[in-house]
Amino acid sequence: MKTPTIEVNTRPESLKEWQAMLKRIFGERNKKLYTPAECLLHILEETRGIAQSLRKETDTREMTERLATIFGWLVAVLNYLEIDMEDALWFKYPGICPYCFVEKNCLCISDEHKYDPDEVNLNHFRRDTERIPRSLSEWQKLFKEIYGRVNDITMRQQIWNHFMEELAEMSYELRHKDKQQLKEESADVLAWLIAFCIRIDVDLDEIVWHTYHGECNVCANAVCKCPYV
Ligand SMILES: [Zn+2]
Ligand SMILES: [Zn+2]
Repeated sequence: MKTPTIEVNTRPESLKEWQAMLKRIFGERNKKLYTPAECLLHILEETRGIAQSLRKETDTREMTERLATIFGWLVAVLNYLEIDMEDALWFKYPGICPYCFVEKNCLCISDEHKYDPDEVNLNHFRRDTERIPRSLSEWQKLFKEIYGRVNDITMRQQIWNHFMEELAEMSYELRHKDKQQLKEESADVLAWLIAFCIRIDVDLDEIVWHTYHGECNVCANAVCKCPYV
């Protein structure tokens, strides 16, 4: 029988803490069994269930565990490549829409925008690290502030399609081994995962903790001992 310790059962707050917890549970096993590309394929496999739920218009609850698992595998890729998820997300979304620079109610995201960052202006926001959300829930709140209005009037399927687009872009960068581009694309994948959670009204922080509460969701060990699946 496993004896949980305080450390094991402490709920992560910041994205760095989530990343560290998932590294402790799965880091060793993933490195032994998978390549980063295979971790990304796991995300793709999980997207099937979401697409199916959207097509059949089934209950939101059916999607929640898959969304948490997608988060888990996204973190697996980033842990593998030693990319800090919080840095990646803040670099791309430093508290504002990086396309139109508003803090609230962006509408530009509904237009076709080519990402042409104004680095000087963006760096000004990036440097203000005091404003980095302290938890996954706070990140979700921030995205709701910036994109909530347009998110509300966009169909769930469209948001999911946008997530898939970003996942495809991340796959391209992984295959081309461009770490900086991969970092930026991974931020978009997470941003659109959060956007989907906002749209279907689930708290990603809650569902991730529900799935990975300090241990592997399958073998229930603090350090996963699951075989290859
Ligand atoms: Zn905007
Ligand atoms: Zn396990």
